Amino acid sequence: MMDAKTIRKTFLEFFKSKGHEIVPSAPLVVKNDPTLMFTNAGMNQFKDYFLGNKTAEAPRVADTQKCLRVSGKHNDLEEVGIDTYHHTMFEMLGNWSFGDYFKKDAIDWAWELLTEVYKLPKDRLYVTVFEGDAGDGLEMDQEAADFWKVHIDEDRIIPASKKDNFWEMGDQGPCGPCSEIHIDLRSDEERAKVSGKSLVNEDDPLVVEIWNLVFMQFNRKADGSLETLPAQHVDTGMGFERLAMAIQGKESNYDTDVFQPMIQDLAKKSGKTYGTDEKTDIAIRVISDHIRAITFAIADGQLPSNNKAGYVIRRILRRAVRYGYTFLGFEKAFMYELVDILSDQFDEIFPEVVNQKEFIKKVVRQEEENFLRTLDNGLKIIEKFMADNAATKEIKGAEAFSLSDTYGFPLDLTELIARENGYGVDIEGYNKAMQEQKERARAASASDKGDWITVNEDDVQFIGYDNLTSDAKILRYREVS
Ligand code: ATP
Ligand code: MG
Ligand code: MG
Ligand code: MG
Repeated sequence: MMDAKTIRKTFLEFFKSKGHEIVPSAPLVVKNDPTLMFTNAGMNQFKDYFLGNKTAEAPRVADTQKCLRVSGKHNDLEEVGIDTYHHTMFEMLGNWSFGDYFKKDAIDWAWELLTEVYKLPKDRLYVTVFEGDAGDGLEMDQEAADFWKVHIDEDRIIPASKKDNFWEMGDQGPCGPCSEIHIDLRSDEERAKVSGKSLVNEDDPLVVEIWNLVFMQFNRKADGSLETLPAQHVDTGMGFERLAMAIQGKESNYDTDVFQPMIQDLAKKSGKTYGTDEKTDIAIRVISDHIRAITFAIADGQLPSNNKAGYVIRRILRRAVRYGYTFLGFEKAFMYELVDILSDQFDEIFPEVVNQKEFIKKVVRQEEENFLRTLDNGLKIIEKFMADNAATKEIKGAEAFSLSDTYGFPLDLTELIARENGYGVDIEGYNKAMQEQKERARAASASDKGDWITVNEDDVQFIGYDNLTSDAKILRYREVS
């Protein structure tokens, strides 16, 4: 069986043999881009080439890109651990043409790599092509369909809608049709039962998109009209963990050697057997997913904090701690130990983890211990709130706010726990309570000139419950540098 390290290496070597320069992943954390906190696709770091702001140094490149999809346009957080193929942090393998090759080579090489190099069974692959959109004056991507026909029976080339198969950078700018490759992992019996049905985009968890080939063909002008780009580009992205699943013949990303070392470690330490109980399985999957996001964020310089990107990381961490506490019985810090496993796993490709291992562990452990201090009480309080609101099945805004303010429960964690119990949360009320608290704090500390000063609200960050002891509930702000 091909292991994950070999799968990644094989991808890069394959595209190198096709004249691509192998480039490093951009950092997971994006600095200086007001529109993006974290890298969420391989193409992010090449945006300026597509926009024509810069000229690419090499016309063909390939890489594996660390991605995080927990905010903004791509937010997969709610899926993670519930399904078996969406992660917070994942690697996106990609190859690019900057005004060089176009649809034919992209399609031929994708097919060659998957079926001849990785030896995926051809009769389990499906592809989608853009079906066109009359309203937008766009024709079906017949070109792509014709290139696919050389390789695949026509009944497995599936026309698909603009939603999934037409990519646009924004309201204006480069755009074009995509062609996705999906793999059908169902058993032969299952497949026989539904034969004849279109098998892609049907929400069957065992028919999974693995690779997206984007053909940047047009430029959308300010008036909405399209013109053909003078230089056309290819942008592809393939989920590395999904690819490993397909190649290793598994039905879940978590059954591959990307995740198994962590899963087995968590199972052993918690005394649970993975694969026997849905609730503990989800918890194990969530934790082994989340620790990757946390580890890579810290390795790339984003520490957990109460502000912006740092708060996203803190939320993910607290979410994982609580899954461990509630479903696996971890009452002490445990996640930091998983960093060792990640460090071994990524030593060749992402040395930033190996090099900073001890630091990452220290940060994670501290974060865990901080949250564990208030977690148990917070969970009791949320139980009480649910009991109090049994009639409405909705936790009140002020209650959710007090959970975050006093016990460090991020709103989405309160929502998650509420949802597990069939409850909702009054978000509007929460926002209102937070606003009131801010105003009170501002009034109270207006003349405070100590370490913690209140300045213009836009320039401050909430550092709240971090330094909290039970009798000192003071909201604190500090200047953002
Ligand atoms: P999906 O429809 O499964 O959510 P997507 O269409 O949003 O995927 P793309 O933006 O096309 O994904 O990204 C390219 C590839 O990255 C996908 O084909 C998939 O293999 C992989 N991928 C996307 N999101 C995730 C994720 N959250 N976790 C793991 N792999 C992912
Ligand atoms: Mg998606
Ligand atoms: Mg998709
Ligand atoms: Mg896609």
